[in-house]
Amino acid sequence: MIQLNHDYDKLKPSYLFYRINQKVASLRAEDPHRRLLLLGVGDVTLPLAPAVIAAMHRAVDEQSRKESFQGYMPELGKDFLKQAVADYYSRLGFRPDPEEVFISYGAGDELGSIGDLFASGNRVAVPEPAYPAYVDTNLMDGRTVLSIPGNWDNGFLPMPDENLDADLVYLCSPNNPTGAAYRRSQLQTWVDWANALGAVLIFDAAYEAFIIQPDVPHSIYELPGARECAIEIASLSKTAGFTGTRLGWTVIPKALVREGRSLHAMWVRNRTTRFNGVSYILQRAGEAALSPEGMEQNLLNIKQYRENGRILMQALDRLGVSYTGGVNAPYLWFRCPNGMDSWEFFDFLIDRASIVGTPGEGFGACGEGWFRFSCFGSAEDTAEAAARLGRIQGS
Ligand code: PLP
Repeated sequence: MIQLNHDYDKLKPSYLFYRINQKVASLRAEDPHRRLLLLGVGDVTLPLAPAVIAAMHRAVDEQSRKESFQGYMPELGKDFLKQAVADYYSRLGFRPDPEEVFISYGAGDELGSIGDLFASGNRVAVPEPAYPAYVDTNLMDGRTVLSIPGNWDNGFLPMPDENLDADLVYLCSPNNPTGAAYRRSQLQTWVDWANALGAVLIFDAAYEAFIIQPDVPHSIYELPGARECAIEIASLSKTAGFTGTRLGWTVIPKALVREGRSLHAMWVRNRTTRFNGVSYILQRAGEAALSPEGMEQNLLNIKQYRENGRILMQALDRLGVSYTGGVNAPYLWFRCPNGMDSWEFFDFLIDRASIVGTPGEGFGACGEGWFRFSCFGSAEDTAEAAARLGRIQGS
């Protein structure tokens, strides 16, 4: 008889965004005129850059003509895009071999697939609060997952100690949901720890484009020794508004070797079996997004999200609420007031101000009692939310 994967039984029911969406739908049904301010979602709200739109139109036209029509794409990505990614990294002072870049449909897919490289007996450590995919994909694959709790005292940036016994560690910097970002010396400690133990770091760089402080690395490969221990997963979702368009990449350096085997070579084997390449139109869109003109346009959107962050930080400052994030990341993370738990505060904010945020409990046990605001809302909603937050205190 067929046997299903019973590792799925270890997953928590995924009710965070489902429950938020249900709540929003029921509020809208009750009162279609109520102005709800959505600061909960991590999705972008501004449109794609003009350079990206123009490139997509050109690519669609190419697909309409016999002479320029493109069929299957290479599984690892077109050379022009791998080159564009390598050029993008070169502004950070290094340039990966374009062959080390694997073009993908985004970070989410890659976080799910990369586990194929590692046996189910490996121990996985996840600094939390964390994007839920790190824990869930590893539980699905049958691995043991260990949480390294973040808290106010460690700035939500957990570090390895002598007791940490793990083979794989997921690092997300700048972090979703806390907005905290590791400094160079902290990431160097992680790299040195991984090389000393023979562990592998999976570095999620989804929010690198939001970094403004010079001491915060954009890529793990800025650190000496990272090419020997780290895989980087990157995405244009937040950098260029590609959440609904889909494009990203994964870097696996050829120097990353474990048990005498090249993880790069294993990933080539994996992708050429399990993947049939990213659409030509999207690869041209990605090339345009990473071009100097495209990045200049993307940065205008990021500037708007940053401005949203500034307005929300100001509102929290006025209320005397301490928070992490907002500087190098589009998220603000703060303790719920008056000892409320995350879901109590979620309901309280809706009742008192019609503001929808994200309960921290959904990002790991240590997120209970904490709350996330996203800076990706519209400028109008963000300004209105800041004004309403001020009025809650006054009322
Ligand atoms: N990693 C983190 C930390 C994220 O916050 C997200 C999306 O919100 C993803 C990965 C997934 O990104 P993508 O849209 O590239 O699948």
